[in-house]
Amino acid sequence: MSLAKTLYDLQQIDLNIQKEQETLDDINRQLGESEALIQAKEALQAEKKHLAVTEKQQKDLEYEIDDLRNSIKKLNDKLYGGKEKNPKELVSLEKELEIFKAKLRQKEDDLLDLMTEIESVQDKIKIQSERLGKLEEEWRQEQKELTQRQTKVKSRLSELGRTRQTLASDIAKQTLELYEGIRVRKGQAVVKIEQGRCQGCRLNLAVNELQRARAGDLIQCSSCGRILCLS
Ligand SMILES: [Zn+2]
Repeated sequence: MSLAKTLYDLQQIDLNIQKEQETLDDINRQLGESEALIQAKEALQAEKKHLAVTEKQQKDLEYEIDDLRNSIKKLNDKLYGGKEKNPKELVSLEKELEIFKAKLRQKEDDLLDLMTEIESVQDKIKIQSERLGKLEEEWRQEQKELTQRQTKVKSRLSELGRTRQTLASDIAKQTLELYEGIRVRKGQAVVKIEQGRCQGCRLNLAVNELQRARAGDLIQCSSCGRILCLS
């Protein structure tokens, strides 16, 4: 096999390595927590916090209602217990009782509103928990598949690396450096000659260039500098 052909094969391996490496980078980016999962967790967390706050409000309100009921009971006892006989005092007690009863009604209404809110928050939590569970299940499945793909790509990469090493060991250091240099500048270092043309820049090659290529010399296109390989 001519040196140009060996370099062409090396380039094919390098292109495959590049492709597999890009796939691996892509897999690595997808591994780990997804944005959707993080958002779903945060939304659930926020709703649970909301529930804790409203439940605390409910307890406070229930205590206040208990206190009001106790006060009303005491006022009722005073008013109707028969001990208090002073009419002025009785009128004032009655007024006080009305105020407390109005307060109680207001607090009971507030409690009903709060309980409705708590129910709706609990519903939301239920829905969001189910959604999160589903997302986590999908995510676990996806991660499993990604890890399997990652293993395969890594194994293909090491296989390609070994093949490259074997091939490169037959090529002189100077030639390898020439190849690498063109590859960095042009992307493609070795191109085929087709119908007397360099397939890198599409220009016709000189007769002596073609002759030297046919003779197995390592030649570069005089126009674009790429290494030429007979197809
Ligand atoms: Zn060229």
